[in-house]
Amino acid sequence: MRCLYCDKEIERYSFRSLFLKEDQLCEKCRSQLQPDRKIIEVSGIKVETFFEYSGLFKSLLLQYKECHDEALKNVFLYDIEDYINIRYFGYQLLPVPSTGTKIEERGFDHLKGIFESVHLPAVNGLKMKKEMCQEGKNLEERRQIIDNYYYEGEALKKVLVVDDVVTTGSTLKGVFRTIEPTTKKIKVLSLAYKKY
Ligand SMILES: [Zn+2]
Repeated sequence: MRCLYCDKEIERYSFRSLFLKEDQLCEKCRSQLQPDRKIIEVSGIKVETFFEYSGLFKSLLLQYKECHDEALKNVFLYDIEDYINIRYFGYQLLPVPSTGTKIEERGFDHLKGIFESVHLPAVNGLKMKKEMCQEGKNLEERRQIIDNYYYEGEALKKVLVVDDVVTTGSTLKGVFRTIEPTTKKIKVLSLAYKKY
């Protein structure tokens, strides 16, 4: 097998790779993608995050999302999916919605792909009012993003909202606020954060 990023042939000697799931990155690439768990606060919401949006993480995510390299979907959670499955046992998973246009362009829902290996039941019923670019730059755009969601579904108990990269937190805040009235407990996790 070859590393999905650098294409180097992967040699497996480690104990871990013999018995556990196989990594699709070589050891050298994986060593540049070590999670560093942090709780940050964006737009007044506590967000658990693992990577800075830079370096190899950024390259991989761009290749996956913008170059439509769907094969990469499993590399992001490799080191943290067990943690998420255990830590958030009993939660329902809510990936922030992508616009329909983006999904059509890519041919797949990138966030669902990344979080496929997390075995939590999904929340359905969160929708966007209109197609909108996620990265609003000015205050007015950000306010519109926050107000751009609605939820049609049953009352929820514990929900884990997930995203790939958090910047201003407008999207997360919008999702958070929308489900807050019908949800007992909400936790928010973003794989990476971008300094804003
Ligand atoms: Zn590699």
